[in-house]
Parts: sequence; C-alpha cells; structure tokens
Amino acid sequence: TESCLKAIDDADALNAFVHKTPEIALERAKAADERIKAGDAPSMCGLPIGIKDLFCTKGVPSQAASKILEGFKPEYESTVSQQLADSGAVMLGKLNMDEFAMGSSNETSVYGNAVSPWRRGNDDAQLTPGGSSGGSASAVAADLCLAATGTDTGGSIRQPAAFVGITGIKPTYGRCSRWGIVAFASSLDQAGPMTKNVRDAAIMLETMCGHDPKDSTSTELAVPNFEAMLTGDIKGKKIGIPKEYRMEGMPAEIEKLWAEGAEMLKAAGAEIVDISLPHTKYALPAYYVIAPAEASSNLARYDGVRYGRRAQLAQGDGITEMYEKTRAEGFGHEVQRRVMIGTYVLSAGFYDAYYNRARKVRTLIKKDFEDVFAAGIDAILTPATPSASFGLGEMTEADPVQMYLNDVFTVTVNLAGLPGISVPAGLDQQGLPLGLQLIGRPWEEGDLLNTAYALE
Ligand code: GLN
Repeated sequence: TESCLKAIDDADALNAFVHKTPEIALERAKAADERIKAGDAPSMCGLPIGIKDLFCTKGVPSQAASKILEGFKPEYESTVSQQLADSGAVMLGKLNMDEFAMGSSNETSVYGNAVSPWRRGNDDAQLTPGGSSGGSASAVAADLCLAATGTDTGGSIRQPAAFVGITGIKPTYGRCSRWGIVAFASSLDQAGPMTKNVRDAAIMLETMCGHDPKDSTSTELAVPNFEAMLTGDIKGKKIGIPKEYRMEGMPAEIEKLWAEGAEMLKAAGAEIVDISLPHTKYALPAYYVIAPAEASSNLARYDGVRYGRRAQLAQGDGITEMYEKTRAEGFGHEVQRRVMIGTYVLSAGFYDAYYNRARKVRTLIKKDFEDVFAAGIDAILTPATPSASFGLGEMTEADPVQMYLNDVFTVTVNLAGLPGISVPAGLDQQGLPLGLQLIGRPWEEGDLLNTAYALE
C-alpha cells in the first residue's frame, strides 16, 4: 500500500487518481495485516486497488467526474466497493473517467483527461488510456495499483483495457449489483474488474459478484469459484469467428492479431468455426438511442436540490431558473448532448420511430447470439477495438460519431447482456497494445475466463 501511494504521488502527470485516500488506505492496510496475522485472510486481503469515481464511496467524494456532483460525499457505500472492502481490499483513491461514463477517451472528465502510460514509438505525444474507465486503465497499466474497478455500459471496461494492455471483464448483466453506482443506462450498466491478468480478474470478479436485495436485477445464482475454473483446458470448445466483425477499413495488423488469436485457441484444442451475427451493423445506432434515452431519465435527478452543486442564482430567479442554470453549468457538453438525444427519442412524436425501434433491434441482436450459442458455439472471438489508442485531442468534439465508432465491437455485448472479456493480444507497429475480445454464454464467466486464460 505504501509503495502504491508513493507511485501515485509520483505519477500525477497521468491524472489517473482524482481523489487520493491515503488515510483510508493505510488504515485498511493495517486492518488487513491484522486479519492475515489472525489467519483470517479473504481473497483480496491487503491488495491495494483503485475505485472508479462512478462508485459511491462513503464519506469520499464521488463525482462521476462531473461538475454537477461537486461536493457530493455519499452517506453510503456501493455494494460492489463494500464487497471488495469486506474482502480486505485496500482502496487507494478514486479514479478518473469520462463524465457520467459517457465517452471513449476520458476527455469528457471535469478533472481533465487521464493519460496513458504508453507512447507511440519515440513520439512524445500523449495518448488516451481509453474510456470511460480511463483512470482505472492508466493506473493498473502504470502499476499505481494492483487492480481497479471499472464499469461497462457499451465497452468502458474492455476498450480502455485493450488500449493499455491489461485485462478487463464485463460480466453478464445482473452478475454484480448496480446499487450505489451512479446510473448511466440502467439496462446496460455492469461493474467489473480491470487487472493485470486473467487470474487476477477471476479472483476480483468473484468478490464483486453476488445477489443484492437492493438491486432487483441482480441474480440469485450462486457465484462460482472462478479461479478454480482456470485450468487452461479448452479442448473441444467451439469458438465462433463472426464475419460481420470484419469491418471495412480495419487495420491489417488487427486482422492479423485476430487470426493469431484464433490459431492460439486452435493449438490449445479448440475448434474454430465461422459464424454470422447478422444484425451486428445495427448495434451501434441502437445503442446510441437506448443509452442516451436511459441516461436522460437517470440524469433528471441532478436538479440542484438533491445532490452536489447548485448554480449561483440571481435576485428573482425561481425554481425553473435554478434547474436550468444548475444543469447548464453542471453538465459538460457530451452529457448535455446525450440528455438532448435521449429526450428527443423518448418524446411522444418520435418514441416509436426511434426508441421502440431500437428496442426491437436490440431483441434481434440478442437473438443472433442465442442462435449461435444454441448451435453449440461456446465463445466468440473478435477484436476488442477497431484501432489502437489514439492521441488526446485527435478525435475532437467536432465529430462525436467518430468517437462513437470506437464502441463498434463492444456494444453488442451490452445490448445482449452477455459477458465479455478483453485480453492483451500484442503490439501494433508503433508499439501500442491491442486487445482481443471473447464473448461468452450468459452466466458462464468461469468458462469465459478459462478460454481467455488459454489466450493469455
Ligand atoms: N463509449 C460508450 C459511450 O460513450 C460506452 C461508455 C460506457 O461503457 N460507459 O456511451
């Protein structure tokens, strides 16, 4: 813990930790020492980790990287961070992210972007660690902590993990409680671990899972011992390669790593099968209707009364001005854009044309996956991202759609509620990490982790 706290102080330039909690960390580390001495050491005992700023942590600023939550210190702890603390994990602080988890580069954060520890060859230009869990990715990759929590609504664990060469898993929707995690799009949001390798992910995920009466969508299924399932034996497993993920203009090196990944799994005894997920091309537009729709509803609660910050009011301002000024000042541009899109697609005149249609598309996408699993496919292998990490400022706000394209391989998994994992696959010609994604059957994270283990 002490060496991580020092590393964090020395790495301020990465802007990964936005609230440091050294007192809490040292206190928890001491308590962990005592537990270890007493022979009562659960799996995460004494392990220093970072917590994404989207998780409410009792008495510690939890701002979802937004100005509107300035000054908000929750009275309660999210279920997942509580489970980690109960398992002896030591929270070092809160990690940077895109505002309300909306983004793919960490550039929408009120704290300014986190920076990747990686560079392109000899070029000094700063690169994005991805988003929205960019602080988590940067911190784990730069050895500021052993692991971190992330959340994934459309790729926010898997894309940043791929950009910095670490492992990140989004479990099946309902595996982890969402209670106490600031809501973005409630039917898509899931928490998950971001770690240095698959074994760490298995250990940490087990701690984060479990039924929670405070989240009606959390499953009552028992939590398996994921680590015990890492045998590396994938003989006879059928791995699907979906042809729709072979996008036009995809860099040749990503194609190459994808083929190499398939070869590795084949060498380990798996059977590689060409498959089709015909509705893939509608996933991104459906996601960018459904996610903003849910966000516009979830973010209605930030009204200047219940949480965080209220704008300075002028003489004579009424409640309407208070709402307007608070929300205009408190939300950044991307969040405002999402709220506007969401409100539009839910409005009476457009509900059927956009929101309802997107929901139907979502059902078709889910069915694509159900069909291939029913045909005997155990896991699906795809690239995690359509490119390696890019330079900060390179994909500016002027073209939000360009940024949204980053999620092309990851959003299908959230729409279908499936588990997905990103594992480091190698480096591109400029020396930057690329990731491969494995998508598994619902509730079979253990199997998925084991397949990823064979790919590691
Ligand atoms: N990049 C996607 C978005 O901006 C995904 C974000 C996420 O998974 N939280 O919505």
